[in-house]
Amino acid sequence: MQRHVTVIGGGVIGLASAHALVRAGHCVTLIDAHAEVASETSHANGGQLSYRYVAPLADSGVPRQAIKWLLAGNEAPLKLRPNLDPAQWRWMARFVAACNHHTHQASAAQMLSLALHSQAIMSEWRTRDALGDFAWQQRGKLVIHRDPKSLDKAAAAHVAPQDQQVLDARQCIALEPSLAHQQAHLSGGIFSASDETADCHAFCQALERKLQASGRYTRIANTRVAALSARNGHIEQLELRHLDGRRERHVVEEVVIAAGNHAAELVRPLGIHLPLQPLKGYSLTLALTADTPETAAPRISVTDSARKVVYADLESSASRQLRVAAMVDIGQRERDSFHPELDEQRIAALRKLASDTFPAAGDFAQSTPWAGLRPSTPKGPPILGRPRQANSPDNLWLNVGHGSLGFTLACASGDLIARAISREALPSSLSDSLPDALAARPGR
Ligand SMILES: Cc1cc2nc3c(=O)[nH]c(=O)nc-3n(C[C@H](O)[C@H](O)[C@H](O)COP(=O)(O)OP(=O)(O)OC[C@H]3O[C@@H](n4cnc5c(N)ncnc54)[C@H](O)[C@@H]3O)c2cc1C
Repeated sequence: MQRHVTVIGGGVIGLASAHALVRAGHCVTLIDAHAEVASETSHANGGQLSYRYVAPLADSGVPRQAIKWLLAGNEAPLKLRPNLDPAQWRWMARFVAACNHHTHQASAAQMLSLALHSQAIMSEWRTRDALGDFAWQQRGKLVIHRDPKSLDKAAAAHVAPQDQQVLDARQCIALEPSLAHQQAHLSGGIFSASDETADCHAFCQALERKLQASGRYTRIANTRVAALSARNGHIEQLELRHLDGRRERHVVEEVVIAAGNHAAELVRPLGIHLPLQPLKGYSLTLALTADTPETAAPRISVTDSARKVVYADLESSASRQLRVAAMVDIGQRERDSFHPELDEQRIAALRKLASDTFPAAGDFAQSTPWAGLRPSTPKGPPILGRPRQANSPDNLWLNVGHGSLGFTLACASGDLIARAISREALPSSLSDSLPDALAARPGR
């Protein structure tokens, strides 16, 4: 039966949900605080469709490693900026509790299944829906290791052995000649040939063009949802605040929360507590020109595992750019969480890391910096489906908490939410790994 679904949030998760819903025959109204889609975390992320590299941050060695990183200055992959917010400390406690082998393995397996489903859906949308050019490439992902012990550990743990090869330093450079400058520091790498990269912002724009052409989609821009009004276990309307100061009530049938970092505050008044923290990260975008030497910048996606930096060649028919993304800052308070601020010291450190690794790629001082907040759960997997709390509104759906992998998991998350709202069977290949709230979806 056709439903009218209101999606709150115009990042990659909201747009992928909207696209899947319209494909399934529903009508969608999408509401977003910004003028344009993908203006927050989905704007200039690392561009990795990292389908086989989905290990969550919470792992057994992480608390010990984190203490070393905390002393390592601005180039450190992780920075803790403690504040007095109890929600931050509750999240940290749950994160530390998840830093064990068993939880890590279970979360990684769940995310791998979602990611592989996402790859299949991305392929279907790309080929059947003619989304256009969003710098999508399938050149594979090479995770390089500088320390032999780290390479051995990664080789023993690689999650999709049939799709991944363990390479020595020489083989890494043969595969990706731009790494030649790193030869003396390389132990080897793990190569996942089927992984992909793309420009997340351009993907969101492509989805929206398709949605607009469908005639079953409307976006309300420059508008914040201030509250969800529920009665008798049902959300009846949303209170909207437009940027120009106007207030309005918006009647709803089904509601999908895809509000990224702002989801927790939206549903808290309904008694729903989402364990989400914004983990801040940074990126640089360097324009590559026809004069950039062929072996100066990576063609395949490269992840520097020791420094936790990812590199993606975002090549479209119109331009070629190198996207560099890294760093996790926990606990930094933003003056305005809808517009996270750049930290000039972190950006300077990222420019140095990138130019040390790929010195001939270009002048990183000229690259465009960006900061974003990853909406993260303590264990890693997103929160997908109906809220777990008893008596939560029967027309409320959650699609949030994708952390460092929102672009990678967006197509699966959108597809699964659309199937659940359509009361369609969920893919049997996912039955063991679906988030509880989706698998145990109450009937109505
Ligand atoms: C540095 C960095 C690198 C990353 N690299 C990668 C990568 O390589 N691969 C990958 O898969 N993922 C990556 N990620 C993660 C990925 O970018 C995120 O998981 C993803 O963008 C989250 O999408 P979202 O739609 O949930 O949130 P967002 O993109 O933030 O969208 C949420 C939207 O909801 C709107 N909104 C919220 N509340 C309201 C409200 N009350 N009313 C109206 N609108 C509202 C917001 O304004 C926003 O536009 C990276 C993230 C960072 C920070």
